[in-house]
Amino acid sequence: MKSTLKRTWAEIDLSALSYNYKKIREHIGDDVMFCGVVKADAYGHGAVMISECLQDLGADYLAVSSIDEAMELRFNGITMPILILGHTPREQVGRLICFNITQAVTCEAKAIEYSEEAVRYGGTLKVHIKVDTGMSRLGYICEGDYFEHGVEGICDACALPGLDAEGIFTHFAVADEDGDGYREYTDHQFKLFCDVVSSVEQKRGIDFKIKHCANTGATYSLPQTYLDMVRPGLLLYGYGEFARKLGLRPVMTMKTTVSTIKIYPPKTRISYGGIYVTDKQTRIGVIPYGYADGFLRCLSDKYEVYTSDGAARVCGRICMDMCMIDLTDKPGVGVGDEIEIFGKNNPIEKMADIAGTIPYEIVCAVSKRVHRVYLKDGEVIHSEVMLRM
Ligand SMILES: *Cc1c(COP(=O)(O)O)cnc(C)c1O
Repeated sequence: MKSTLKRTWAEIDLSALSYNYKKIREHIGDDVMFCGVVKADAYGHGAVMISECLQDLGADYLAVSSIDEAMELRFNGITMPILILGHTPREQVGRLICFNITQAVTCEAKAIEYSEEAVRYGGTLKVHIKVDTGMSRLGYICEGDYFEHGVEGICDACALPGLDAEGIFTHFAVADEDGDGYREYTDHQFKLFCDVVSSVEQKRGIDFKIKHCANTGATYSLPQTYLDMVRPGLLLYGYGEFARKLGLRPVMTMKTTVSTIKIYPPKTRISYGGIYVTDKQTRIGVIPYGYADGFLRCLSDKYEVYTSDGAARVCGRICMDMCMIDLTDKPGVGVGDEIEIFGKNNPIEKMADIAGTIPYEIVCAVSKRVHRVYLKDGEVIHSEVMLRM
């Protein structure tokens, strides 16, 4: 196998991605469409490569957060449908139409803007109407007293010239939470969504082609919410409890190498602030992985990386470009040896727990100077780094 060694790199296992895709496909059944969420550079995995893979696998839709993310895919050979979940400035509507990108419509003001611009451009913008059923973020608010008004607003949007309302969707706020009350909240959101959809469909005498709401949590545990399409992100990349329960594989493994090793006497302060003091003769390794690479600084002095000889703890503060690890009882680990920060042997979920965050934030924090190395069947097929060179 070709060497993957770099300063610091993220191995992206496309075989794991296709495995996960196929497993999720089996789980949801053949009649449900699959929308792969590839916003935020496919959760740090590299949106172009991940989308190419999903396109080849036969996914039905991709979801991104902005027109820039959508255009990146279009410029790189992705021809399948793409939905922008977030805000697009009205000036960009012509480009949406020209590149056949679907836009979420999140409120009346945006619906009018999109319609006016589409008419001005002389085309039709494909849209999915967003319903706010309890996330309290984007979408037509339809809860309680707002129901009739929300339904009216959606009907009006569907009737606007220049817009083709292909779909309608909502987003669950607590479908991935565990505990009392969460299930009821999601059930309520789902019921409200279904009520809104049927009211609009009745009033307008049309059927939306694609109704969707299931994120990772619902894709795993709430089949009744699948409707026409599911929309998982994290699950696809193989992280979190639902991925574990489905037997999915983590797609990203973050690796670095040992750059320097030194032996310090007892009572030596290690790194900024001197918060770590050696209690004995200590063999310290420096690894070129710091918070500018995405190593959350709050993990300072708390985290263990994975060496060929097991876990090695981080000593003292994580610096911008590097950090120090204790290799005292690992004489076999030398300069140039590979270290796994998180991945197959060192689960990202554990890292997220220690940092008091979620796997989402950790993969999104992987910075642009970290090489992405793509593997298929254990072979390197592509490598890229997002620096201007
Ligand atoms: C991010 C996002 C998703 C995917 O969420 P996961 O928890 O990663 O499955 C689905 N829908 C919308 C609207 C989103 O913003």
